[in-house]
Amino acid sequence: MHIIDLHCDVLDKLTRLENSDFIQDERLQASFERLKKGNVKVQVFAIFIHPRIPQHLKFQEALRQVEAFYDKVLQVPDVIHITDWKQIDQLQEGQIGAVLSLEGLDAIGDDLEKLLVLLNAGVKLVGLTWNYENTVAYGALEDPKKGLKPFAKQVIQLLNERDIIVDVAHLNEQGFYDVLGIAKHLIASHSNSRALCDHTRNLTDGQLRALVAHGGRIHVVFYPPFIEEDSKNTTVEKLIEHIIFLKNIVGIENIGLGSDFDGIDLFVENLTNAEDYPNLIRELQNRLSEEEVELIAWKGFKNFVNQI
Ligand SMILES: [Zn+2]
Repeated sequence: MHIIDLHCDVLDKLTRLENSDFIQDERLQASFERLKKGNVKVQVFAIFIHPRIPQHLKFQEALRQVEAFYDKVLQVPDVIHITDWKQIDQLQEGQIGAVLSLEGLDAIGDDLEKLLVLLNAGVKLVGLTWNYENTVAYGALEDPKKGLKPFAKQVIQLLNERDIIVDVAHLNEQGFYDVLGIAKHLIASHSNSRALCDHTRNLTDGQLRALVAHGGRIHVVFYPPFIEEDSKNTTVEKLIEHIIFLKNIVGIENIGLGSDFDGIDLFVENLTNAEDYPNLIRELQNRLSEEEVELIAWKGFKNFVNQI
């Protein structure tokens, strides 16, 4: 079964690791070979700017990761750059679609031109924040009551004009509710249920219902601390509990996958890199119908972008 995965941090690793190689670097959880073995058909690659990077160097860092995307990921002959969602349908057997996303607007400061540069490079999903405050909003680890900042309006207007998906995975709670009414396309690309695991990176039932009411969807993340509070031996079964729970709240057609491979250092048992995707699919097939598993694995997202 094909997989569409909405979040990985391969680009951050490709820029940091010495002599990194996207094709078969063992240090990558989502290398090309592993994605292929895991049947991943479309992988979203995030530009992630670590908070320790000083503000004046953040945009440069974003460009370094764009460069890694072009020079290392897209250089693989069977990797196809998805700049229009319709291209997913044209992928041939053996090809993998690669999508660029931006995990937080920290790199642009208050300069919309910088965002334009990144959109022109192919960014299709934009998170307003990572975990902390920036010029646009407050992140998931900040005061949940602080809403979007005035600059958010201009940013979201530009994203709407370009039909870019706004990723709410790392937003704080008030920012999340503020963005619902104004963003055209919404997704939480790598978050789980807060009712099952009380972490501010996860979404409450109220947030989930509101997200879906505004046409959005949620892609579950494989990071154990977002799956269970006591996360020492997290099983695939525990991750599936989130999916079953979410099914009752948002509907199976609005759930997808966002592994966070290469952005995580703790793992679900038997789900430690992209090669392990069949282990998840097999267990999903034990719990859900074939049609439901297909919706989660790729089809629900495809249906979503078909309307963009
Ligand atoms: Zn993240």
